[in-house]
Amino acid sequence: MQGKGISEPALKLDWPQLMAFKRSFTAPAPARNEKKFEEAGITTFHGQAHFVGPTTLMVGTETTLEGHYIVLATGAKPASLGIAGEEYLTTSEQFLELEQLPSSIIFVGGGYIAFEFAHIVLRAAAGSPKVQILHSSASPLEGFDPDLVAQLVKATTEDLGAEIQLNTEVKSIEKQSDGHLLVQALISSPREEEPQPSQHVQSFGADMVVHAAGRVPEIEGLDLEKASIKSDAKRGIIVNEYLQSVTNPAVYAAGDVAISNGGLPLTPVASLEGSVIARNLLDGSRNHQTYKPNYVGVPTVVFTIPSLARVGLQEKEAHVQGLLFKVEQADTSGWYSSSRINLKPSGYKILIGEGAGDNNNRILGAHLLGYQAEEVINIFGLAIRNGLSVSDLKAMVYAYPTSAADISSMVG
Ligand SMILES: Cc1cc2nc3c(=O)[nH]c(=O)nc-3n(C[C@H](O)[C@H](O)[C@H](O)COP(=O)(O)OP(=O)(O)OC[C@H]3O[C@@H](n4cnc5c(N)ncnc54)[C@H](O)[C@@H]3O)c2cc1C
Repeated sequence: MQGKGISEPALKLDWPQLMAFKRSFTAPAPARNEKKFEEAGITTFHGQAHFVGPTTLMVGTETTLEGHYIVLATGAKPASLGIAGEEYLTTSEQFLELEQLPSSIIFVGGGYIAFEFAHIVLRAAAGSPKVQILHSSASPLEGFDPDLVAQLVKATTEDLGAEIQLNTEVKSIEKQSDGHLLVQALISSPREEEPQPSQHVQSFGADMVVHAAGRVPEIEGLDLEKASIKSDAKRGIIVNEYLQSVTNPAVYAAGDVAISNGGLPLTPVASLEGSVIARNLLDGSRNHQTYKPNYVGVPTVVFTIPSLARVGLQEKEAHVQGLLFKVEQADTSGWYSSSRINLKPSGYKILIGEGAGDNNNRILGAHLLGYQAEEVINIFGLAIRNGLSVSDLKAMVYAYPTSAADISSMVG
């Protein structure tokens, strides 16, 4: 907004101050939660837990706990990349604890963590840091709409100055004598009419290399075999639709450690699953197998500036399912809701069901890029979760001027 009503120089992050502010509300949380647990009659034990029997856990080296039921909620951790120099990678947790931002950063992986961190650094850090994102496949942010991703990638590279290198597989990281890190990567370039792409090795240098190449369920060290709990390195604890281990009915699992049930690794999904398990455990009927999580209409957001959001199906998924649908889409960078605050890019793609079935005139998927996309997507989530029709969304009288007021124009 500089020169468009704001005359002060552009605001810049004071990273150490921001970290101190963050800690002012994150640091007290564990003790506060523990106190609440205590008030509710829940005892907390601190330490690494692992199974020593089907319903027995050892916490640390001394405490043994026996339960009629055990709920696993150990979350996820950065996936091991199996490359030389892996120990030089900075994890997302470590990045969010840095005292100072480095002046050049390489992100290994082009998912939401890389894009969110890159936008923080490029949009707001002082001193024009250099940011490179190395991504192994041809398109980053694979869970999001490719057309909106293309808009975001263009803005991230052309307007913010990030370098995004696709089809680039990181092979090793070396630390040089001056502390600088050198990444060796294999770059594949598809060749017309040739089955094999041409490949070459290229080096990339930076002060810091951040692991943004995916997370896997945290099952290591749980000694699951001692409790006959089936698991998979990528999908975590294998659970049934009631979130109960398929091989040990005394064990339930929620959150990032149990994505085998189809729930996305997201905070609200972990909460939903936790409450489903609690209800199953407290309700003794049907062998503690009554409630199932409903994942319909759960939105997910890339918190870049502006944000990219998705709920429901992508176009390719709707095609695979053989659904009849039409697509409403536009680049809305010139629309009032984006241009009045000078925040670009923006756009949307909405999938609307057609044909004679229940899907007719219903929202099958909504994809938004732009100012307040992270808020507006919740309305599409509500529509999908509750089967609201396009006519319902159009009949709503939206507060004006708000970003949600664009919905009636988006749905045709
Ligand atoms: C950088 C980043 C950004 C994210 N941004 C978002 C976002 O914007 N929105 C969103 O919805 N989600 C986001 N997520 C995902 C979100 O953090 C997870 O989905 C959520 O925390 C999962 O909750 P959980 O309870 O399953 O696991 P966690 O929150 O990971 O908690 C698991 C806990 O179990 C502990 N633990 C592990 N093993 C053991 C053991 N053997 N014994 C005892 N304790 C153990 C761990 O130390 C941890 O404290 C983000 C994740 C990352 C990494």
